[in-house]
Order: sequence, then C-alpha cells, then structure tokens
Amino acid sequence: MSAITNHMPTAELQALDSAHHMHPFTAGNELAEKGARVITRAQGVTLTDSEGNSFLDAMAGLWCVNIGYGRDELAQVAARQMRELPFYNTFFQTTHVPAIALSAKLAELAPGDLNHVFFAGSGSEANDTNIRMVRTYWAMKGKPGKSIIISRKNAYHGSSVGSGSLGGMTYMHEQGGLPIPDIHHINQPHWWAEGGDLSPEEFGLARARELEEAIERLGEDRVAAFIAEPVQGAGGVVIAPQTYWPEIQRICDKYEILLIADEVICGFGRTGNWFGSQTMNIRPDIMTIAKGLSSGYAPIGGSIVSDEIADVIGSGEFNHGYTYSGHPVAAAVALENLRILEEEDIIGHVRNIAAPYLEKAWKGLADHPLVGEARSIGLMGTIALTPDKDSRAAFAGDAGAVGYICRERCFANNLIMRHVGDRMIISPPLVIRPEEIDTLVARATRALDETYAEIQKQGLF
Ligand code: PMP
Repeated sequence: MSAITNHMPTAELQALDSAHHMHPFTAGNELAEKGARVITRAQGVTLTDSEGNSFLDAMAGLWCVNIGYGRDELAQVAARQMRELPFYNTFFQTTHVPAIALSAKLAELAPGDLNHVFFAGSGSEANDTNIRMVRTYWAMKGKPGKSIIISRKNAYHGSSVGSGSLGGMTYMHEQGGLPIPDIHHINQPHWWAEGGDLSPEEFGLARARELEEAIERLGEDRVAAFIAEPVQGAGGVVIAPQTYWPEIQRICDKYEILLIADEVICGFGRTGNWFGSQTMNIRPDIMTIAKGLSSGYAPIGGSIVSDEIADVIGSGEFNHGYTYSGHPVAAAVALENLRILEEEDIIGHVRNIAAPYLEKAWKGLADHPLVGEARSIGLMGTIALTPDKDSRAAFAGDAGAVGYICRERCFANNLIMRHVGDRMIISPPLVIRPEEIDTLVARATRALDETYAEIQKQGLF
C-alpha cells in the first residue's frame, strides 16, 4: 500500500477511514455514507480540512486545546523528553523527573490541601481511579460499607465501565451492562429544562437537597462520595443556579461525604480561575483532571487528592495503576503547557478580557427568534433552541433534530459548535481574541438564521 498522507484525495482518505477506523460516538452507517471530515492542520483557534476549508474551532477540539493549536514549545519539549527518557513507569518505588515536577506543580496550583496526584492516561481512567480510591479510603478507615457513590443524571464522567457508570447518560448505560453496582444518580440542577414554575434559586436548593435525601435514604454509613462537574459540560453546559453549590458543600460537610469535583473540562482556566471549584467556591477532597492539563497535546489525566486521603491510602498498598501513569513525555508536555498558561497569564486573559467580551456578545443571541436562553461562564457558552421562549418548550418530534440542523449550518459557515439535543454549546481555546469572538458570534448568528429558515421550510417551527 502506498503511503497515506495529507496529499491524498479526500475521497480516498474517507474510504480507507470508513473501511478500517471505528469512530467514538459516531453512527457507522451514517459515516460510511457521508464520509468523515478530514482535519489536516491547525493554528491558534483555526482548523483546516483536507479540502482547504478553515473553521473557527469553538470547541477547542473536545474542550481541551486551552492554549490554542500550534505551540511549538510543546513539540520541542516532547522531542527532547523522547530522546532523553521516552518511557519509564512509576510503579514499584520508581519515579522520574517529569512526574515529580508535574505533581509538585499541580500541588502548588490546586486549592486547599490537595497536594497529591495519582496520574492516569485520561479523564475516564482518572475517574475509575477515584471509584477505587474512595472505596479503598473508607475500607482502610474501617468503614468498608461506605461504597456508594452518588452522581447526577446527565453528568459525563467518561466512557470506561467505571466512569461511564458514574456518568448519568442513559444512552450510555443502555450499552455494555452499565452501571456497575453502588452508583446512585440524583437529578441535575438544569433549571431551563426541568425547573418548571420554580425560580432558579428555589430549584437550585431543591436539587441540592436531593443529595441529602439520597444520603438519608441510602444511609450515611453506605455513602462514600458525591461526584459532580462544577459546570456540566457534555450535558449541555449546565450552569447550576447560585443556590446549588453552597448547599451541596453544606451537605457533604454535614455527612462527611467525600466531594469529588470532576474538573476535566473546568480545570486549567475554562471558568476564569485555575479550577471550576474555585469559581463555585467549593472544597473538593479529590479533583479529576485531564484535557486542559496538557491542552490536549498529549494524553494525560489524574486525580489530585487531599492530604487526608493520601495519608490513609498511603498507609497501605493501593493495588491500582496504569502503564502510562505519569508517562514522562505526557508529563513534560503538561508541565510546559502549565508554564505557558501561567507565564502568559492566559487565565487572566479569560477572566478580564475574553469571558466578559464573550458574555456580552453571546447574550445578544437571546434576541434571535430561535433562542430561548444564551448563557456563558468563563469561556463556556450555551444556547437553548426553542419554539417558545416563554414556556421554555422543546420542539415537537425528535429531540436534537433542530440542534443537528444548526450544527450542520455552523459547519457550512466555517464554525465548529457542538449540539447537545437542541442546545448549542461552545468552549473555545482560552487564547481566543475579541475579534475572533466577533467572528464566532457572527457565524453563529448566520447559522441560526439558516436553521430558522430551514426548520420553517420543514414545518418544525
Ligand atoms: N469527565 C468530564 C467532565 C469530561 O468532560 C470528560 C470528557 N469529555 C471525561 C471525564 C472523560 O475524559 P476522557 O475522554 O479523557 O476519558
């Protein structure tokens, strides 16, 4: 077979892809028919495909390319580390400088007494670590009955058997025998979709109190931890009402339930602070990290844990670990990414420039006839498409049909936005400049106009 390169005709690349490559979260038959979009290059906030089209990537890949594409420093560091020590493990009393340096840096950046890092290759793996870690923690403290982890419906915590069980996506539970035992899901704080006649504040409290009810019902002596994303990402950028998080923290404190903040999306600047937990003013015992840790340049994740948990777990042997826990190349790349985030004050840029600018422009989309609410926090944005703003109604017919049309109109307008049902979401690289935000919102507006015209034509509105 001749070499497969960027220079091959797109149709040939698509045919090979369809013949041999199984894609995550993709309907195979649809893909075979349409052919995959082949991305060939990227720089800053812009992606280029094999046909020479360019797109403003308002999703930063999968919420991960926080420092933007094309930072050569990371390539240099990776090459240097590969030459010096491409791999060694961190099992059996061994370590290496990249793992030492990265864990020390993360301990410095993380709030409170979160001073210890257990590395993984991804967010899913890190959440699997968390399941075993919190159960082992309680067992080592003489309370093996505390094994239930409470999570939320419509949460996303990964795709492996453990993390997919923590997640609250029913369409994932339908495949492969999930969830595993002792995972319990309460309702999410999604006011727009589920708040009914309650005010957002009343609803936030009511949903937080479901945690207390669940602990009372299941028994305090059975519950190990509560896990949640500070802002639900894959669920549609669900920003909880103001009343929610303080109440969750109160309940976790009262019942001594460990709080796991899944910072895989919110971590490393996304909400305008290093961690979403700081934005929400919560004190987690464990934070799950991945994605922005390396800005997606290398696969790496981990769990940052408190002194107390590390002391207890460290008092025995934790029979857990991944070949790539603390992989030296990924760790070196992550460390360089953190250096850039810090030295270039990219989080200050989010907080002081990009997020306020986006918020203003994004809110303006609520004037569009299709848009019910338009909200953002830091550099995460969400808009609800609705046939009736006042009643916050959903479209008749298949949920997501209108969102899908809108996503396709975004592509046609050189913009990558994602749809979750009939909600459009963004999470652009943190380095996005105000003039790029203008372009993003102008393209989104055109896509919304075209969606509006299309659904009127189809009789959906
Ligand atoms: N947690 C959250 C909050 C996520 O958004 C994701 C990925 N989208 C994960 C965990 C899983 O991470 P990974 O895909 O790296 O396994």
